[in-house]
Amino acid sequence: MLMSDAGNFYTSHSFATVVIAMLLCSCSASISQSAHAVNSPYEVVEICGYFDGLTFNGTLANQSVQWQSGLGPRLPGSNASELFRNSVAENLTEWNVSMHEYTVDNLTFTNIEALLTPTVFDVDTQRVVLVAHYDTRNIAERDSDENRTNEPIIGANDGASGAAALLELARIIPAMSLEYEVELLWTDAEDQNYTPHRFFGAEAWAGEQSQQDIERTAAYIVLDMIGDADLQLTDIWPGDEALWSTISPLAQSLGMVENQTDCSGAMGVKIYDQNTSIGVFDDHVAAYNIGIPAIDLIDIRYGPNASAFGGYWHTHEDTPDKVSADSLATVGRLVELGLRSGAWMMTNATQDDIEEDNNSLDETLILDDEETSKNYSSKSIIVVSSIILLLLLKIYLRLSIWKKSS
Ligand SMILES: [Zn+2]
Repeated sequence: MLMSDAGNFYTSHSFATVVIAMLLCSCSASISQSAHAVNSPYEVVEICGYFDGLTFNGTLANQSVQWQSGLGPRLPGSNASELFRNSVAENLTEWNVSMHEYTVDNLTFTNIEALLTPTVFDVDTQRVVLVAHYDTRNIAERDSDENRTNEPIIGANDGASGAAALLELARIIPAMSLEYEVELLWTDAEDQNYTPHRFFGAEAWAGEQSQQDIERTAAYIVLDMIGDADLQLTDIWPGDEALWSTISPLAQSLGMVENQTDCSGAMGVKIYDQNTSIGVFDDHVAAYNIGIPAIDLIDIRYGPNASAFGGYWHTHEDTPDKVSADSLATVGRLVELGLRSGAWMMTNATQDDIEEDNNSLDETLILDDEETSKNYSSKSIIVVSSIILLLLLKIYLRLSIWKKSS
């Protein structure tokens, strides 16, 4: 991923890409924030009604982290990558699982999509998309051993943790009987050393979304590097502000916010710091840029007392012993609580706004058409006039020549 911290851009790849990405982000920010608003703010006490029903199992998720790490690096096109995909297809019997293979710039990669559609469904049914990359980085450019920087990493946290949380969510979501659609998206080729850096899987997915799919997507939430035993979450930019505003009450109710009481009445500890925002370019950016409310739940300070983009990140130290079942459960339960409480569903008022936006869009298109036809008719007049003038000139010249010769 590409990233920026405290105004300084950090990049393992190309500064130009960051600038371009920033331009893309700033252009689309107004689209994603005006068209979508979610059920926010709402009361923590309402969310607590769902607290006792939470079933996300951090131990099971951690077992998947260990299993994925045991496969070796999950590089695009590798056997390990294929084994992961086969496992998803075999285990998600209640989901509609499909594989999506692409080749871009000679790199072949495969996204995994799993759909769970409610019984009452039409083209406007709202959708929540939960996303994690399952590939692992093909180099370890930050490793202290210079002889090993060209070797791929195991990616227990950077890869397996988010992928495992999605698998555990896949296990528990069908029993929730949600009234909206959930899509699980495991992206490939998020973390490959490539200049300029590309989020191949997320970009390919975004490129296939229809306008209707964009409008019915209430939330697109990326889970990346969420297994660090020393879990520290912050706001991440770019990201949808309205969607971020739903995270605070969810985190507070789970005891993840310092000096705020949780659902059991206990005082929270500092896991989610809503007052800090770190710039990270990740799999959420492609969706955000096409107008989908998207955020990235990521702990970019990997390891005890690690600085942002420091610690074990992109080193051979990114191994399963650094990942904790408790951290996986903390983030997993946050997402589960958001799903169960309907925290991300667009309100009726919001949908009216979207319809109004669509109407004004139609009007704009009609206006554009009128302008276009006006332009065409004025152009036609100019062309016809020019032809007549040329003809007249030709006749005049012929007449002059005839007069001279006669
Ligand atoms: Zn990475």
